[in-house]
Amino acid sequence: MPTALPDLDRLRPAGTKRSSKRDLIVNVFLRQEGHLSADDLVDLIKREDHRLSRATVYRTLQWMVDAGVARKVDFGEGRFRFEHSYRHPRHFHLICKECNRSYEFLSSDIEALVEEVAMARGFQARQSVVQIYGTCEACLTGRPPAEEGTTSELLFARDALRIAIATERSGLDFYTRAAKITKDRRGRSVFLRLAEEEKAHLGTLEARYQKLLEQDPLLESRPTFLFFKGAANGLFARGADELLAEGINDREAYRIGIRCERGSHRFFKKYGERFEDSEGKQVFLEFAEEEREHLELLIREYRALLRRQSQRKPGSADRRASRPKTRASRSAVNPTSR
Ligand SMILES: [Zn+2]
Ligand SMILES: [Zn+2]
Repeated sequence: MPTALPDLDRLRPAGTKRSSKRDLIVNVFLRQEGHLSADDLVDLIKREDHRLSRATVYRTLQWMVDAGVARKVDFGEGRFRFEHSYRHPRHFHLICKECNRSYEFLSSDIEALVEEVAMARGFQARQSVVQIYGTCEACLTGRPPAEEGTTSELLFARDALRIAIATERSGLDFYTRAAKITKDRRGRSVFLRLAEEEKAHLGTLEARYQKLLEQDPLLESRPTFLFFKGAANGLFARGADELLAEGINDREAYRIGIRCERGSHRFFKKYGERFEDSEGKQVFLEFAEEEREHLELLIREYRALLRRQSQRKPGSADRRASRPKTRASRSAVNPTSR
């Protein structure tokens, strides 16, 4: 994807001069999407400027690794390969032993497992490398790899948006259902309002998704990059199912909603913060913020409901006791959210 190159002056070690040779090498390197060996890069550079020496390319590559522009990867071939890390999401690799192609993916379940193991062993993990060796689909079927001609960043943004969209959809289901079952008038207006918000967000996310597709006509059909088992069906799907149970009352509906919003907020915040700068990161962080606003609204409303119920005289009519004063209800359902 044509994105602006990073500010290399900022990365340059203090006191070192600007070098046009180095800039050329860095620029050529950043234009590559795959995993290059140092010699691959030398060949590419020589095509641009045959006077540049192998030693200069090697030195610059090392400088890029130190500056965080390049990542060194070892696919067990007896030599390192390099990939750029600029707007390139963290990932694991599938490595084909037939054609030496490598494919990128990320799995939140693997990362969670690694975290769990490290924590249990009191180990502070800095980096984990997951490499799966075998034979790729292209070699098995003879069809060209479906990843070719796109970037991991684009796939990542697509998958992040898909997860956010699935979450909005399940959220919309959840609140529509909650509004239907609640007996409390104020509760109904809160749930309806949240359903409206989910619908509006859904529209925004879908528009963004369509825009992303314009960047790559094959994007829809390309393989999954981001695996999020727990989030694939939308983080509210289980909550929406729970609402179907017999005899769910208003309090329980709020509690389930609070649990879903909290889980969703944490999920998007945690992963959003961990991702490198990218569209996907932005999607997650914005979404985390929206979920936080919903969570706060639900908690406020849940407390208000408990207060109303505790003030209610035993045996009094449910509807009359829960009818809010107009002003109070207006301010209560007017959340800080957009
Ligand atoms: Zn292969
Ligand atoms: Zn890679």
